[in-house]
Amino acid sequence: MKKRVAVLGATGSIGKSTLDVLRQGQDDFEVVLLSGHTNSEGLLRVGAEFPQARLVLSGCGPEGPQGLSLAIAECGADIAVNGIAGAAGLEPSLAVLNAGMDLALANKETLVMAAPLVFALAKEHHARILPVDSEHAAIFNLLEAHGREQLGEILLTASGGPFRSFSPEQLAKVTVAQALAHPTWSMGAKITIDSATMANKGLEVIEAARLFDLPGECIRVVVHPQSIVHSMIRFRDGTVYAQLSRPDMRLPIQEALYYPAGGRMSFGTLDFNALTLHFEQPKVEQFPMLALAYQALGAGDPYPAVFNAANEIAVSAFLAERIGFLAIPRIVEKALQGDWKTPVLDLAAILEIDRHARKVAEIYIERGI
Ligand code: MG
Repeated sequence: MKKRVAVLGATGSIGKSTLDVLRQGQDDFEVVLLSGHTNSEGLLRVGAEFPQARLVLSGCGPEGPQGLSLAIAECGADIAVNGIAGAAGLEPSLAVLNAGMDLALANKETLVMAAPLVFALAKEHHARILPVDSEHAAIFNLLEAHGREQLGEILLTASGGPFRSFSPEQLAKVTVAQALAHPTWSMGAKITIDSATMANKGLEVIEAARLFDLPGECIRVVVHPQSIVHSMIRFRDGTVYAQLSRPDMRLPIQEALYYPAGGRMSFGTLDFNALTLHFEQPKVEQFPMLALAYQALGAGDPYPAVFNAANEIAVSAFLAERIGFLAIPRIVEKALQGDWKTPVLDLAAILEIDRHARKVAEIYIERGI
């Protein structure tokens, strides 16, 4: 029997890679739902290729976000790939788990904002959460293969972004166009800027802590510009296990879609005759977003949600050329200094904190911090 699949964020970068896997695996999968945000033309185009799938536009039109949650509840999929960008991906993730489907998760914000809620729902509805980020998918595989009894730490690899070797003076003058040109991965604008500030790696540290139930001290970031080693685990005896492949998002996507059977398609092999692997420490002074993410993780919920919301607002302001590149971490740092502790962490409280943190970030942008 074919696995029934919903693709959320079908017109984005993860969505496109997912559809490519589904196209090649058409004997194994049936696409039942495709969602886009505002790109109606793009959604219609992919919809024409998968005529049996229901199409939902969540960012405009009569359906909106509630319409998407309803469509998820009704679609009867076995698994949903959530490739929606940003905080908008949280509620669809909850809808997926509520419907008892497995969640192939590429939306980092789901776990950064609401991990306790997400895991409780998954448990209640017997749904699995399968990471689709290349790093987390690698760690997930490595832990499945080698167990975690002897685990000492996770080594989360980072490309370092396009400004890895920039001086603070050069960083201050970075333009939007420069920040949007990523050396190894082709992605959406928000995540490309996050990669340049290393906020993306910060979000991934938080995501890894949640997914693998580890404290920040057990997650170390290693800069590896080639993006060939997707991540590593180090056992207490010193042994390190790594997952390597060409940088291609279709690999972790097919892994999740075929789970637990394992992927069947080949997306090329590594050429060891022409392979140089380089590793270095992240430059924490140049890229304060990484330290801020660890700080938010250590402070506990809801600080990771505040980190995320303030960063989203700061990145949009940078993309709109309202602030400079180095103002992004300053705004996030300011937002994290507030007192965000809250006794209840249900969805309403999380969304309220998200809204409030965005407002706070916006105030600091207007003040020119
Ligand atoms: Mg990643």
